[in-house]
Amino acid sequence: MIDIASPLRLRLDSAALVSNWQWLAAQSGKACGAAIKADGYGLGARKVMQHLAAAGCRDFFVASWAEAAALMPLAGGASLSVLHGVGESDMVAARTLPAKPVLNSVEQVARWRAAGEGRPCDVMVDTGMNRLGLRVEEALGGALDGLAIDTLLSHLASADEDSAQNAGQLAAFRTVRQRVPARRYSLANSAGICLGPDYGFDLTRPGLALYGGTPRPEAAGHIGQVAFPEARVLQVRDVRAGETVGYGATWTAPAEGRIVVVNMGYADGYLRCHAGQGGATWRGRELPLVGRVSMDLIAFDASEAGGLAEGDWLALDYDLPVTAARSGLSQYELLTGLGARFERHWI
Ligand SMILES: *Cc1c(COP(=O)(O)O)cnc(C)c1O
Repeated sequence: MIDIASPLRLRLDSAALVSNWQWLAAQSGKACGAAIKADGYGLGARKVMQHLAAAGCRDFFVASWAEAAALMPLAGGASLSVLHGVGESDMVAARTLPAKPVLNSVEQVARWRAAGEGRPCDVMVDTGMNRLGLRVEEALGGALDGLAIDTLLSHLASADEDSAQNAGQLAAFRTVRQRVPARRYSLANSAGICLGPDYGFDLTRPGLALYGGTPRPEAAGHIGQVAFPEARVLQVRDVRAGETVGYGATWTAPAEGRIVVVNMGYADGYLRCHAGQGGATWRGRELPLVGRVSMDLIAFDASEAGGLAEGDWLALDYDLPVTAARSGLSQYELLTGLGARFERHWI
């Protein structure tokens, strides 16, 4: 077999993933699930699910039935919910796959009832985000009567901020909880968990913080980095004082020095906004990104990294809160943007 190595790799720290989940579970009070939509926020949903299931996580959430199908067969004991519920074209998948829909509208509830499954489903009630979910009035007005609801969910719109909307949604959710029977109630995402035990209910649904994101200051110091992107040096170049690097000649070498060129760009989720901010390290030396990020290639100033050679691996600066603040991208974008050319290596 020929070993064709990619010039990009993503080191994924399973111990950090599990430790993040354990911290979130400890804050959650009762059960703590995991949002693994968007292929586990770009890290690989199947592996994420395996590692978290082994650690004791039982409840997993994906966006669509295609994402659910990609996770089959499910490990015994795991519960999978499909957050976008059931459209007309989802019913075949919803009948065949061992996953629950999260019903999001009166129409979806009617569709599920008409299918006559009688199997448990989850339900989303919108307490003020106006994204997915039945309106509170609909939920209280009889639309859910007689439905076998496993988990009744709502989702916080501003949990990452100190907003009065959080308490408002909590109050609305408590009202729904008193009036609509379900086996369990679930409100909090990663940021919601940090708002305190009132938000925990029976089950929480973190995503971002599992993968190393810090949703609120309360989580700082407790959440570890999981995804470590690395790029191999294609070429080392000497540059002379006054020479420029890259498209648009936006960086000029202040003195004689060296740059290294690596194969990374837009397709890998490494976007233009990293210019002037991004960087990498090699054996403890810092290599600032220089010039523009272009389609497929970028350059780093390696003048201070003596001995660095073609074929060496650079560790990209990818501490999520720091990189988000510098680049203007959200921590979610930084994770989910990591492209398919990164070979994922779980350690
Ligand atoms: C994505 C999602 C989550 C996870 O949110 P994070 O902010 O990533 O923790 C939880 N609940 C629902 C309904 C979601 O769509």
